[in-house]
Amino acid sequence: MKQSVKDIQQKLGLSDEDVAKPLPKPTQWSEPFWEAAREHRLVLRRCDVCGTYQHPPYPSCEVCYGEEFSWVEAAGRATLFAYTVNHSSVPYPFLADLPYVTAIVELTEGVRMISNIVECDHDALRNGMELEVVFADVSEEWTLPQWKPVSE
Ligand code: ZN
Repeated sequence: MKQSVKDIQQKLGLSDEDVAKPLPKPTQWSEPFWEAAREHRLVLRRCDVCGTYQHPPYPSCEVCYGEEFSWVEAAGRATLFAYTVNHSSVPYPFLADLPYVTAIVELTEGVRMISNIVECDHDALRNGMELEVVFADVSEEWTLPQWKPVSE
């Protein structure tokens, strides 16, 4: 049975700060990714010189060292590359979410992203399974792209 954050706080004597989830800290290169996520859009940065997609964004292209990029809409589809189902031993802010899935997904554009798999039976998880993006509004300011199995 899932415990609520309040139950966990009371049981372990934790403050509100102890159970506050960390939020993204965008860089000058990743800010557009988070702005789009807020609008429930998934975007990727693509090199204007050689067309390589990059995630997370770096100052230059890792293939051609180009420094000109465009932000483009991603298909929002991926396959499961690797995952773990967390059952215990996670930082305090995530205790109430147990069990949950942390994963690396490979987008159709070829880049990999660390995220969570949601809305799924954990026993049905398989590397290579087809996924689609969903957006979790975790606060008024922040939205996290997550992934779920493709609806049949
Ligand atoms: Zn390039």
